[in-house]
Amino acid sequence: MNIDDLLGYAKRTGMFWPSAEIYGGSAGLYDYGHIGAMLKRRFENVWLSYFVERWQNYFLIDGSTLLPEKPLVASGHAERFNDVLVACRKCKTYYRADVLLSDLGVELHEGATPAEVDATISRNNLKCPKCGGSFGEAKAFNMMIDVSLGPDKADRGYLRPETAQSAYLNYYREFNLLRQKLPLGLAIIGRAYRNEISPRQGLYRLRELVQAELQIFFDEQTFKPDLSNFSGARINVVPYTTGKLESLTPDELVLRGYPVFYVYHMCLIDRFYRKILGVQDTKLRFLEKGGDDKAFYNKIHMDIELNVESWGGFREVGGLHFRGDYDLTSHSKGSNKSFLVKSEGREFMPSVLELSFGVDRNVWAQLDLFFNNSDGRQFLSLKPYIAPYTAAVLPLQNDEQINGRAEETFQLLAGKYRVYFDSSGSIGKRYARMDEIGTPFCITVDYDTVDSGSDKFQTVTVRKRDSREQDRIKISDLEKYLHDAVEVNFD
Ligand SMILES: [Zn+2]
Repeated sequence: MNIDDLLGYAKRTGMFWPSAEIYGGSAGLYDYGHIGAMLKRRFENVWLSYFVERWQNYFLIDGSTLLPEKPLVASGHAERFNDVLVACRKCKTYYRADVLLSDLGVELHEGATPAEVDATISRNNLKCPKCGGSFGEAKAFNMMIDVSLGPDKADRGYLRPETAQSAYLNYYREFNLLRQKLPLGLAIIGRAYRNEISPRQGLYRLRELVQAELQIFFDEQTFKPDLSNFSGARINVVPYTTGKLESLTPDELVLRGYPVFYVYHMCLIDRFYRKILGVQDTKLRFLEKGGDDKAFYNKIHMDIELNVESWGGFREVGGLHFRGDYDLTSHSKGSNKSFLVKSEGREFMPSVLELSFGVDRNVWAQLDLFFNNSDGRQFLSLKPYIAPYTAAVLPLQNDEQINGRAEETFQLLAGKYRVYFDSSGSIGKRYARMDEIGTPFCITVDYDTVDSGSDKFQTVTVRKRDSREQDRIKISDLEKYLHDAVEVNFD
């Protein structure tokens, strides 16, 4: 699918569409509809169970999305959270420099300064793709969205540019509340805001986005999680040193010089995508950033990339960032509080490992990767625990007894599972609607279900989405059937 196809599909099926659509929409802002909101929530819940709830000292917190200026000065965002902006002199179109140059097929390293952008533009004699005009001088553009607080609007604040800052701001209290144990994990699933110069590609570049991030605070000398959990794993990675795609075992990665705690989390993420979400192994890779492409505070920086056809290839859907002690040191200085930890005669600043995921990007990728169009039918082969609805209850015909039994069946399952009820249209059309949104099971109530003379009395048909196979199941066994089907094995 291309971007327009995917967006059309998302709108048609109740997944998502531009915010304020009835007024023509606004770039980089999207609303989730009745199906998409649940798909997003399912992804978040599985993420939370998998990455956070299985550890004794990892916790979910939440934070204000509106922050005062001070912490964002201390974190460096007020000064450095910039993109380079160029404008066409003639038609006045604004471009984000890296996006413009990549569209024009010219290489530019991440974090290039305005002067470097100007030099690249003049060296390649680049012109505005819209009108052929020449460009004005490139400028640094801060991507944070500032707001004025208070009755006289005198206090400057910002919408947070990443959820990570809320975790760092709450670290001090949580570390002390939680008896000063390391490693400590603080996770946030929440919104972040960026004044993107050119939002585009559906849910890829948004001005308001949802992140699922886990910040692990740890002691570099003692944090050595057990790699034997991942024996046999092979990780697709493009190391910065070789620039080539390689398939490496955890041990080989350690031999290459990546710390054990870093390799462990690569394996954890790899398992999440391949096993829990069911992504094909060739469609996942880690891309290491180095040199000028690496964020200045990161010691090791890898993008998690999925090969998403509608985005034209491998694109970033998350990241694994070893941030060292940059964040705690910055906020310790900014707030005049000591974050140093004393342990066994040592005094040290904890380090941070960040697991960061763009929820909207991952939702988009799920649709792209799991949409099937074959034999004249379209179905979304999501894992049952990711699918917006687990099952649909469908009365085969418009008959009072059948409808009544179908209603009872819906009530039996509703509240325990996400169940859709649909009685309108032909059964073929109703199956097709459920296939398109990825509902793994369609439960059909028919004449046999309500016929006490039939040997199929009190049973229903359960149709499986991908294979279209049908099982005849007792209504009293449905709960167990669905329970077994949606169980997740994380190991
Ligand atoms: Zn122009």
